Amino acid sequence: MNVVVVGGGLAAASAAAELREQGHTGDIVVVSGEPHPPYERPPLSKGLLLGTAEPESALVHPREWYDEHQVDLRTGTLATGIDLDRRRVHLESGELPYDRLLLATGATPRRLPMADGSGAPVAYLRTLDDALALRDRLTEGARIAIIGAGWIGLEVASAARQRGASVTVLESAPLPLQRVLGDEVATVFADLHRAHGVDLRLGVRVAGIEPDGAGVRIHVEGGDPVAADLLLVAVGVVPTDGIATSAGLAVDDGIQVDARLRTSDPHVFAAGDVADHDHPVLGTRIRVEHWDTAIQHGRQAARVMLGADEAYTRLPYFFTDQYDLGMEYVGHGAGYDGLVVRGDLGARQGSVLWLRGDRVVAGMHLNDWDAIEPLRGVVGGVATDAVRDPSVPLGELV
Ligand code: FAD
Repeated sequence: MNVVVVGGGLAAASAAAELREQGHTGDIVVVSGEPHPPYERPPLSKGLLLGTAEPESALVHPREWYDEHQVDLRTGTLATGIDLDRRRVHLESGELPYDRLLLATGATPRRLPMADGSGAPVAYLRTLDDALALRDRLTEGARIAIIGAGWIGLEVASAARQRGASVTVLESAPLPLQRVLGDEVATVFADLHRAHGVDLRLGVRVAGIEPDGAGVRIHVEGGDPVAADLLLVAVGVVPTDGIATSAGLAVDDGIQVDARLRTSDPHVFAAGDVADHDHPVLGTRIRVEHWDTAIQHGRQAARVMLGADEAYTRLPYFFTDQYDLGMEYVGHGAGYDGLVVRGDLGARQGSVLWLRGDRVVAGMHLNDWDAIEPLRGVVGGVATDAVRDPSVPLGELV
């Protein structure tokens, strides 16, 4: 059996490794549009910008791993289409036959046409090359404007401040990360950035963007314009699902897969940021844009391609590092109706549980690294009286 993987990110590299670890001896071809071997993206907005990590340390596998494991990695190669009937992947030149195909094409930054068309210096952050170019701009005294106070925008703000740049963040919502975390915890992140000197402007609408000498001027409805040397647009990502749509696979918000990561075609699977997964535990479709999911989806898709009958049941997991704040989050808190805080949110130390009805739907810690295992034990379970009582230590709940 030969396997073709389209996409050269973490999900693709994890799938290739799992195929070999499971004893698959057939051909594996990984087709990647990027010029680099697969690498991890979390350092791109953290250590790489800070100068504490180098690109080589972000590689998923060492460069020689692919040859050593007979994985035919074709970097700089775009897949342009899929013929589901003939089981062929079209490349810019030539085609590849497959018995099993994994689509791990990830996601692409959502563009802001007003910025793209402005002629001003505008950056996005998704690739290693984006990060290296951005790193060069984060110098002492540089003025960086960021549109979007999501995870990437805030992590770049943190790195930029630590490198001595002045930072203005413009966000249309009343709080950063409000949709994911809710008001109380989102306030922790707003306070964190303001305490580190970020000019965080919330609830604002960008009215126009224009060049300003070699820099950029951003006009804000009802407020003072922001002048900067560089504008980073960080307004989320969209799944890279174009070839799946053109091939006729079921696609909505990403490539639709069942609980076992199978697409609407029995020979084709999808994993990572691009996969819109029918999650059997959460009971809903979910497309997760996190590091852990890319690894675990990739590995699981590999096992299912080899014949395992395993549903993917793992809960979403996410981490971030900003200044001296480290946090990990597990679960899916959408639609929560209760919150239990253990510790001191103001001091950025402790844990939070999100409740919906009688269940614990998500948990998070702030700077309390021993908490992640108890959190994993509690999330998904019943919100007992002990769970709801903040005086009962987290460790005693499992
Ligand atoms: P991707 O990493 O997007 O890889 C997809 C690959 O497929 C790309 O290389 C692309 O070029 C290639 N491709 C697409 N279409 C084609 C085609 N037609 N032909 C060939 N190749 C193609 N997550 C966390 O949990 N914690 C973090 O702290 C965190 N930090 C992050 C920081 C940054 C700056 C970014 C960008 C992401 C961060 N993430 C974080 C998210 C995490 O990195 C992603 O969830 C993960 O990279 C998804 O992996 P993937 O393999 O699904 O997709």
